[in-house]
Amino acid sequence: MSKQILLILKACEFAADKHRNQRRKDHARTPYINHPLAVARVLADEGGVKDAEILAAAILHDTLEDTQTTLEELRKAFGRRVASLVAEVTDDKTLPKQVRKQRQIDHGPSKSQGAALIKVADKICNLRDLRKSPPKHWTAERRDKYIKWASAVVRALPIPRHRMRRVFESEYASAELPDPSGLKSKTMTSRTNKHRGGAMNE
Ligand code: NDP
Ligand code: ZN
Repeated sequence: MSKQILLILKACEFAADKHRNQRRKDHARTPYINHPLAVARVLADEGGVKDAEILAAAILHDTLEDTQTTLEELRKAFGRRVASLVAEVTDDKTLPKQVRKQRQIDHGPSKSQGAALIKVADKICNLRDLRKSPPKHWTAERRDKYIKWASAVVRALPIPRHRMRRVFESEYASAELPDPSGLKSKTMTSRTNKHRGGAMNE
């Protein structure tokens, strides 16, 4: 068994354990681990990323932010680079939410390539979740705001010509654009499909 495969399997086991009591925000309360696994799969499969440390960091990307995991724990288990990639994609939870969201845009240009790739894959997966299994009770307005913000984050990242950017743009095109008139109704079920080819019909 190659070292790279073992690193990835170890990351799966570690993240599954850390997220074991968490659920996504969708109606079915999908187990949280499905999300980091999807992020790593998108990177490898749709982005052609072969670097095992980036893939392991993708699997671990929400452990610092959303579980009790420490940076030291990640360093010991996975080494300095994986730990530092995870740290780069982790928000400072001591800051107010809106400040953190703005920081994701402002700090984008200084991200390493590996961290930028994980961030774009994370946003791709979240846009897909918004279409297929959105958080319970989100209005169309909130969803549109999130899509717009995710796009600002991704466009600030230093990977303008990477394949992952094109995957994101295609996902963004499948999402509906915010209503320019501001007159659209407040719930997702009453949205029209005229903007971007009927994503809600899928
Ligand atoms: P949140 O940050 O609250 O939620 C989005 C995050 O939830 C995603 O980035 C993703 O994080 C995670 N997530 C879990 N399940 C799903 C899923 N099924 N689909 C998509 N994402 C999922 O969203 P906002 O950016 O809208 O909120 C920002 C702040 O504003 C919050 O404090 C919120 O309480 C507040 N707020 C905003 C409103 C609005 O209209 N915008 C209305 C009410 C409150 P990850 O990548 O880590 O998995
Ligand atoms: Zn995530």
